[in-house]
Amino acid sequence: MINFHYARATDVADAVRQIAADPAAKFIAGGTNLIDLMKEDVERPTRLIDITRLPLKTVEETRDGGLRIGALAPNSDLAYHPLIEQRYPMLASAILAGASQQLRNMASTGGNLLQRTRCYYFYDTATPCNKRRPGSGCSAIKGHNRIHAILGASEACIATHPSDMCVALAALEAKVHVAGPSGERAIAFADFHRLPGDTPERDTNLQWNEIVTAVELPPQGFAKNYTYLKIRDRQSYAFALVSIAAALELKAGAIKEARLALGGVAHKPWRDPAAEAALRGQAPSPAAFRHAADLLLREAKGYEHNSFKIELARRGIVRALTQAAQGTPQSQSSKKVL
Ligand SMILES: Cc1cc2nc3c(=O)[nH]c(=O)nc-3n(C[C@H](O)[C@H](O)[C@H](O)COP(=O)(O)OP(=O)(O)OC[C@H]3O[C@@H](n4cnc5c(N)ncnc54)[C@H](O)[C@@H]3O)c2cc1C
Ligand code: SF4
Repeated sequence: MINFHYARATDVADAVRQIAADPAAKFIAGGTNLIDLMKEDVERPTRLIDITRLPLKTVEETRDGGLRIGALAPNSDLAYHPLIEQRYPMLASAILAGASQQLRNMASTGGNLLQRTRCYYFYDTATPCNKRRPGSGCSAIKGHNRIHAILGASEACIATHPSDMCVALAALEAKVHVAGPSGERAIAFADFHRLPGDTPERDTNLQWNEIVTAVELPPQGFAKNYTYLKIRDRQSYAFALVSIAAALELKAGAIKEARLALGGVAHKPWRDPAAEAALRGQAPSPAAFRHAADLLLREAKGYEHNSFKIELARRGIVRALTQAAQGTPQSQSSKKVL
């Protein structure tokens, strides 16, 4: 563990001032990821700016009928919030599929977005890793890559983003509100996380001197026909090998609107407009679901140990869409067992 300064931010403006004054500083919220990374010597901030006392814990209705979730709303509070349970049950389901109750009590909304990959080599400072040390190489490409990406990877990095919550937020087309020295801005969820390209050290398009203040959900929550299906090695306390957020709006026996996002397969939650467009106007049927799965996975490429994920994802997509179409709130039962 390294030495570091500790300071509390008094309000959002103060948090921005403090982070902008020190490029090697980091915000700390629940600390469930950052402290682990510091213990492993992966992150070495010179200063921790504690943002836990900022007034960013509320969930409020927006004028257009959506919700604004404060960046410090704990994962547990969010999952059990009545408005989330009623109007965005897919999000509640995704959150409750992650981590453990204790971790979810600590983990914040903003921290969940910014958690880092679970690639084993990223955590092992004795091995080359372009994300941890740019230019050092990627140990996973020719190493043990069972949990790695099958979509959107690059020659520099094949890591995946580990969040469950973010997969549902991608499908719901949330927005991320941030504040920085030049003011506030909103980032569409699809543009928040990045593909690795040749800069895998950058996970997101958040600037180093910006703070996430809120996540905004649009009015459409797909509360009737949705599923969050998480496929993993153990039924609890494990990250997704593949996860699927599937949401449908059905009208007169046909699919009016479809959303599909995959987790555990890429450096960001994976969506493809072609797969969703192919579902629109179709009757919900196994053939239509298989076609959407084929489209979503058409560029999938496996490495030595993870090719199995392609077929796993294909079957998972069909199953998730089938459950969503049936309107079986699989999430309700999973709340009790996960
Ligand atoms: C054993 C274990 C199992 C887990 N399993 C899962 C799982 O199955 N699914 C899943 O989705 N997650 C899982 N997690 C991850 C967990 O959800 C994250 O660690 C948590 O969401 C991070 O939130 P935090 O508030 O603790 O972030 P912190 O650790 O405090 O911060 C994480 C990062 O975000 C930055 N940050 C935090 N808040 C802000 C902000 N408002 N603005 C700008 N930067 C900010 C910090 O500087 C840091 O870089 C697991 C974690 C552990 C330890
Ligand atoms: S996959 Fe990415 S995080 Fe993992 S070793 Fe390669 S560069 Fe590092």
